[in-house]
Parts: sequence; structure tokens; C-alpha cells
Amino acid sequence: KFISFEGPDGAGKTSVIQQIQQQLEDQLGTEKVMYTREPGGNKISEQIRQVLFDGRNTDMDGRTEALLFAAARRQHIVSEIIPGLNAGKVILCDRFVDSSITYQGAGRGLGEKEIWQINQFAIDGLMPALTIYLDIESEIGLRRIAEHRANQVNRLDKEKLNFHQTVRQSYLKLYEKYPERIKLIDASQPLEKVIEDVKATIHDRFSD
Ligand code: C5P
Ligand code: MG
Repeated sequence: KFISFEGPDGAGKTSVIQQIQQQLEDQLGTEKVMYTREPGGNKISEQIRQVLFDGRNTDMDGRTEALLFAAARRQHIVSEIIPGLNAGKVILCDRFVDSSITYQGAGRGLGEKEIWQINQFAIDGLMPALTIYLDIESEIGLRRIAEHRANQVNRLDKEKLNFHQTVRQSYLKLYEKYPERIKLIDASQPLEKVIEDVKATIHDRFSD
């Protein structure tokens, strides 16, 4: 079971995944649950991640950025996701291809269609069975980042409000386009309620 978690910055993705992971591990056993993040999760992808997030790389071209994300994704699929799926694990993936479409395609203006094309080559047909989209208004998301993460910003964390609004609109468009795969959760609710909704959504999707 391949589940991706998506959302704009400040949606609370990290906290939500941690708690869902904990609960699934209690339920299924630690060896049946795998958390992994994009870009990263293995040595090669983590190295690419460093290049992407390095504050000194202010001259990075947008297409270079998009290709690096796609390259990290490819390696992550081969090294982590496919072996995990083969071992029958539930995979909780922190960001996947939708992030590239919304951040690089829409946010950086490289074109959602173009980003989808280069990523089709990278993913080679592998898509999540379920995508949990944590939706948050950009103003609220940015306020949360300012309050909780002021000390750990990276190169890609320095965007302004209109970038975040563009990213969110792009997520909402994807949600409308793929209602079967993508489930929207209102991430402005209290964390406990968000977790409840995510749990119910995962349960509905995989109850047979
Ligand atoms: O997942 P997380 O919120 O930790 O992402 C780290 C940073 O990378 C965020 O600032 C996010 O905006 C950025 N990012 C990006 N393009 C992606 C994925 C993440 O700019 N495709
Ligand atoms: Mg995060």
C-alpha cells in the first residue's frame, strides 16, 4: 500500500505523518510500516537533496531544480518504495510527484504539463494508491512556519505569499482532476481532528 502525503508548507504534514505512522505501527507491527520522505530516503537521493536545499545555490535554474527532484524521486522509488511494496509494507511517503507539479510546475512557472512529462519518465508508471492532501490557506500555512520553523529554513523555504497561493491552487486543481486517488483533508482543524480524518480516509480506501 503506497500512500503519499502532500500539502503546502505549514499544513502540518510532518506532525500528521509521524502520528499516523505511530498508530499504524501499533496496529500492524513496526516491520509492516515504512516512512520515507521526498526528496531523500537513501544516500543518492539525500545527496541530491543537499544540492537542492543548499542556500549557496542561489543561481540554480528552475529546470535543473525540476530534473534534480525527478532524479531523486527515481532513485527513491528504486531503492525504497519498490522493495517496501514487495515486502508487503504500508509506505507513508512524505511528498511525491504532485509536489513537483505544484512547486516546480506551477510555483516556479515551469508548466504543470511539462513537469508531469519529465516525471512520467522518472516514475515509470508507479503512482500512490492513495494521496492524502492536507489543505491549508496560504496565510495560515505561512504563519505556522514563521511560528514553528523560523530556525530551520532552507533555500526552498524562502518563497512569498503569492508563490504559496499558486502552489495551493495547483494542488486544488489536481484534487479536482484525480478525485479517486487524492483525498482532501482540511488541515486548518486541530491536529487531533486532522489525524482522525486521515485515519478514516486510509481506512475507507483500504477496507476490502
Ligand atoms: O516536505 P517539506 O515541507 O519538508 O519540504 C521542504 C521544502 O522543499 C519546502 O520548503 C517545500 O516548499 C520545498 N519543496 C519544493 N519542491 C518540491 C518539494 C518540496 O520546493 N518538489
Ligand atoms: Mg515539512
